[in-house]
Amino acid sequence: MKLCVLGSGSSGNALLVEGPAGPVLVDCGLLWPDLEARARRAGLSLHGLRYVVVTHEHTDHVRGLEQARRRGAKVVASAGTLRALGIKGLPAEPGLEVAGIRILPIPLPHDALEPIGLRLEVDGLRLGVVTDLGRVTPTVLEALKGCEVLVFESNHDLEMLLTGPYPWPLKMRILGPLGHLANDEAAQALKGLRDWAKTVYLAHLSRENNRPELALETVAQALNGWEGHLLLTYPDRPSAVFSAG
Ligand SMILES: [Zn+2]
Ligand SMILES: [Zn+2]
Repeated sequence: MKLCVLGSGSSGNALLVEGPAGPVLVDCGLLWPDLEARARRAGLSLHGLRYVVVTHEHTDHVRGLEQARRRGAKVVASAGTLRALGIKGLPAEPGLEVAGIRILPIPLPHDALEPIGLRLEVDGLRLGVVTDLGRVTPTVLEALKGCEVLVFESNHDLEMLLTGPYPWPLKMRILGPLGHLANDEAAQALKGLRDWAKTVYLAHLSRENNRPELALETVAQALNGWEGHLLLTYPDRPSAVFSAG
């Protein structure tokens, strides 16, 4: 299997998992031509895409969804997200398997109707994907134990957010329990997962309220002595490709 984060952040999120039965997208927040170009750039392909797993209905996760559906892709999401999107799809229930990938939805605290993170099992490998969460709940931590690969939100630096250009109500939304995770919150959570995780992608970084080096440094410091790969994801280009098997 192969995994690549094609785009990450408020300008558009999409993650490509190339499993035993073809590609599956997690979120589709980029328009189709962009998705295809980025997949190609990463040496991957969307050819034969049959499923898009959607974590929640925010625009940065569904901007290209209609285009993917027109190309025959089915949507997998929580019942609440399907309702919010006004479309029919497969409810993401624990144990559901699509294209050789087993799906376990993880309820997330975020300001959408029924947002989820994901634990995916493919080819005996466990992947955890959690972006867009206001805080790390015990449920989230428990669900991610055992995951060898994590795509984990590291949205903002608290100081940069507080002193930055965003209007106060927006700052409060991001900081709140249903907003987004700060670098040091991500770092603390990852400390609890270091025994399993071998590859960690930091995701959904804010362009205004974070700097990639700062996110990396904060997490690396907390994981002092950890012998894994810490990688970035980008708003405008694909991440490094993880591959196994
Ligand atoms: Zn988002
Ligand atoms: Zn969101």
